[in-house]
Amino acid sequence: MSVIARRVHLAQRPIDLPDGSTWSVRDSELESPVDGEVLVKVTHLSLDPAMRGWLNDVRSYVPPVAIDAVMRASGVGTVLESRHPDFNVGDSVTGLTGIADHAVLRGEHLTHIDLSVAEPATWLGALGMPGMTAWFGLFDVAAAKAGETVVVSGAAGAVGSVVGQLAKARGCHVIGIAGGPDKCAWLTDELGFDAAIDYKQGPVHRGLRDMAPDGIDVYFDNVGGEMLDSALRALRLGARIAICGAISTYNATEPVPGPAHYMSLLVNRATMSGFLVFDYEDRYAEAVDGITALMADGSLVAREQVVQGHVDDFGDTLLMLFSGANTGKLVLALQ
Ligand code: NAP
Repeated sequence: MSVIARRVHLAQRPIDLPDGSTWSVRDSELESPVDGEVLVKVTHLSLDPAMRGWLNDVRSYVPPVAIDAVMRASGVGTVLESRHPDFNVGDSVTGLTGIADHAVLRGEHLTHIDLSVAEPATWLGALGMPGMTAWFGLFDVAAAKAGETVVVSGAAGAVGSVVGQLAKARGCHVIGIAGGPDKCAWLTDELGFDAAIDYKQGPVHRGLRDMAPDGIDVYFDNVGGEMLDSALRALRLGARIAICGAISTYNATEPVPGPAHYMSLLVNRATMSGFLVFDYEDRYAEAVDGITALMADGSLVAREQVVQGHVDDFGDTLLMLFSGANTGKLVLALQ
């Protein structure tokens, strides 16, 4: 079977926020799958802050998306045709589909998902890459333990909302930092965070001083910039900072200043470690099982912000991540 796929290509690299000139949307005929390949009808696309980094022509953990290439993205979909023994027509799968409504992929690059366990969008959120990031960042990198005070920034987002709930389930005292009263109320009233700081209402370091007067043991950083500096000021002896991301800097056009309070690491014999979720791929099953169990007993709520649309809506939808218009995992569901 050959199909026409509608796909988003990188037209030119953005200077700051991507805009209409960044993308070009095109229809292309896909070759029928050959042995080992699978044709997937994509139903849901994951929108991730990391996409902004993939547009820069710099050395990183993956090569930049090339000019004219299909934009890299994870997706969920249904198998339309299979030339791979592990996949049958109708199977639900996830993989790197790119921003496209159809994709032909190698079977070994696809993973089965079970829609009786969770909705497709959840497989891109709490049970997908963001959930894995939360699990390994919190438990392996930051080694959070019961009784400790954990602070997470970007707390109402895909990764942050899972981090806070995992930390609560572990018996930690959890403080989330997010933008706006609605997000903060959601964290405390519905997700069970002990406290939330609205960084748009005042300096985060004052909020941390008030809500964690004895200091913090773990800072899970999704935001970087000034927020990281505020957390450094609040560290306790032996604290750990997990550098997950720095979304406040992703569209910067000038060099970003380093944290002024880094000597707090020395004073408090603290550590700050960056990590990449893909390094934990061999252990994803452990995190999926753990998060599924917490969802089943009601101690973890998976929330997605699902935008209904078309491949053409990708560019505008992506910007929601940088304006804070999403709560939970941002997903584009293809009509
Ligand atoms: P997300 O938190 O669901 O969405 C982004 C959120 O960031 C927005 O909703 C917004 O929330 C906040 N934000 C945007 N601009 C901001 C700014 N200038 N200052 C403060 N907050 C800002 O995204 P996500 O997928 O969960 O990703 C969160 C972080 O984890 C990102 O930094 C991402 O790059 C990183 N990440 C890292 C890995 C890894 O392997 N290391 C894997 C996945 C994700 P507010 O309304 O609260 O501002």
